[in-house]
Amino acid sequence: MTAQRSVLITGGSRGIGRAIAERFVAAGDKVASLDRTGNVPEGVLSVRGDVTDTASVDAAFAAAEAAHGPVEVLVANAGMTRDQLLIRMTDEDFDQVIDVNLTGVFRCVRRATTPMLRMKRGRIVLISSVVGLYGGQGQVNYAASKAALVGIARSLTREVGSRGITANVVAPGFINTDMTAALPEERQAAYRAAIPAGRFAEPDEVASVVEFLASAGAGYISGAVVPVDGGLGMGH
Ligand code: NDP
Repeated sequence: MTAQRSVLITGGSRGIGRAIAERFVAAGDKVASLDRTGNVPEGVLSVRGDVTDTASVDAAFAAAEAAHGPVEVLVANAGMTRDQLLIRMTDEDFDQVIDVNLTGVFRCVRRATTPMLRMKRGRIVLISSVVGLYGGQGQVNYAASKAALVGIARSLTREVGSRGITANVVAPGFINTDMTAALPEERQAAYRAAIPAGRFAEPDEVASVVEFLASAGAGYISGAVVPVDGGLGMGH
């Protein structure tokens, strides 16, 4: 790993992704955020785009490379929910969540991998969710998209693991962001009661784990699913 790495984070404009971007900036890395609004933290290069569009993802990587050099650390964090009970879930509810949370990650890792292979080093961190393996009521679309990231990370590990590249999954539980603020108060209370830690976490508590997985010290960890969930998903 080089000292000042080129880092690309999807969704660095808000919530968990923003906290991750701030951590890498604080560590002295050169950080770019691929998001739609461009409202990024100080010191972060905004490479605006949409993960549902391949050309836009490719252009964002090209902009990050031009400014910072080949991307050595990719954090695929951008995600969304569109909760609905299965019997009422439309094709569009399903497809949109898959397009952002799963195909969006595919587009990013595919674009990131060739330059990493050339450099013979790289760190890929995919932000999944406890819901991927635990399940969630009204979240067939979201849980499917998040569980699939384990398959991506593990297949990637088998494909490129011998080339100095690691691919891991971080599975957060409930984190205080816009996404959880949108949940009805009674559902938030029910989730809180089920979490052994008895609280939701702050975005930086996920960011610190991502920072570690991207570090030189985590070079022998690949294909892992690392929970950051206060114990909620234990055993899953
Ligand atoms: P937020 O809703 O707070 O932020 C989502 C981020 O993703 C924003 O920066 C947004 O940027 C970006 N984004 C969304 N859609 C797109 C898109 N199509 N193209 C590019 N960027 C996009 O989410 P959180 O911070 O809460 O969640 C971040 C990740 O963590 C998600 O993958 C989520 O599923 C996961 N997660 C969150 C948990 C939580 O409790 N909050 C728990 C478990 C997992 P902009 O709108 O500017 O484009």
